[in-house]
Amino acid sequence: MNSPLRTVPPSALPDIRGRYGAFGGRYVPETLVPALDRLQAGVDRYLHQADFQAEFNHELKTWVGRPTALSRAPSLSQRWGADVWLKREDLAHTGAHKINNAVGQTLLAKRLGAKRIIAETGAGQHGVASAAAAARLGMPCVVYMGAVDVERQAPNVGRMQLLGATVVPVTGGDQTLRAAIDEALRDWVSDPDGTYYSLGSAVGPHPYPYLVRELQAVIGREARAQMLQQAGGLPDVAVACVGGGSNAIGLFHPFLGDAAVKLIGVEAGGRGPGLGDNAASLTFGTPGVLQGSYTLILQDDYGQVRETHSVSAGLDYSGVGPEHSYLMKSGRVTYESATDDEALAALAECAKFEGILPAIESAHAFSGAKRYAGAHPGARILIGCSGRGDKDMPILQRTLLKNFE
Ligand SMILES: *Cc1c(COP(=O)(O)O)cnc(C)c1O
Repeated sequence: MNSPLRTVPPSALPDIRGRYGAFGGRYVPETLVPALDRLQAGVDRYLHQADFQAEFNHELKTWVGRPTALSRAPSLSQRWGADVWLKREDLAHTGAHKINNAVGQTLLAKRLGAKRIIAETGAGQHGVASAAAAARLGMPCVVYMGAVDVERQAPNVGRMQLLGATVVPVTGGDQTLRAAIDEALRDWVSDPDGTYYSLGSAVGPHPYPYLVRELQAVIGREARAQMLQQAGGLPDVAVACVGGGSNAIGLFHPFLGDAAVKLIGVEAGGRGPGLGDNAASLTFGTPGVLQGSYTLILQDDYGQVRETHSVSAGLDYSGVGPEHSYLMKSGRVTYESATDDEALAALAECAKFEGILPAIESAHAFSGAKRYAGAHPGARILIGCSGRGDKDMPILQRTLLKNFE
């Protein structure tokens, strides 16, 4: 492919084939094509329609609790020698940014005439958001969840059930997120008209990465306006954690045209750089196809996708949204990783000095921001606080809180 990186403004992507430069596309079995075509037609027709946007924004405002706050972090600012601001997705209904996408896709499902919502979930956060959105909008909801995750995330399974969803444990494959996505795709193929598959991150075949980005970009639009108003100017840098990449692309996208704003995505560095010890697909991965998309993935020399490790369940995925692969190659966004220990230390610091318990996922962004502050004294830093850490108490008991006993 000729280098489109220098000529195509990132905001114009994806192209008509769902490509972000070399990345993205739609690598799916023939059986899935009609369902994706139908989804694509629905996205083209409804997503930017005034009617749809009005209903979406109304739900975001009156039910999700948007706009979420932008909080200055005075103690972190002082401790790091910087000017630190937090975009508070932890304050959104159900505790993280995932609800923005779940509400938007459920509204789209209704427009498309679907009779039921299906979703996959790893740690349970997208499952909870999907179950809540489906309950709110009067749709039945089935959530596929790896059997291992059903065990590990019991409180979220209960939350989904109380919200009226049916949770189906997936015993095939790796019995975690990857297997759950495969199972949801199988369900969708069997009834593409009556069923809507609500995918939880900016990953998968076109048009999902685009659809999820458009629904999550509300984060960056709000943050940009709030920075201008509350901080008196744009940040020098915006930092977000990257699992599949939805909160990061949502925060970054409205800043892509601001050349002076540096953008940093922080992946899960886990125990270290070895294959299987982390979930840092951009930092350590190589190009390949995973779940319908050409992107950077963690695979061995034979192209076998490898299991990943992260202390944070929400970042524990062997691929990443294709737009991030593009933004890394184009140089517009810088990606780095934070280890388990670095993220936990950042979580503890934020909780103790700001009175905010961030999700372990979000703590990776705090760690990256602290590193940036160390090298750039006085910088104005915007951190995407993607969710709250209450859900992480069991793992925090076994790690940080061990020392408190
Ligand atoms: C799921 C989750 C993430 C990771 O997903 P992205 O699609 O990369 O945003 C990050 N933070 C929280 C709180 C999550 O629940």
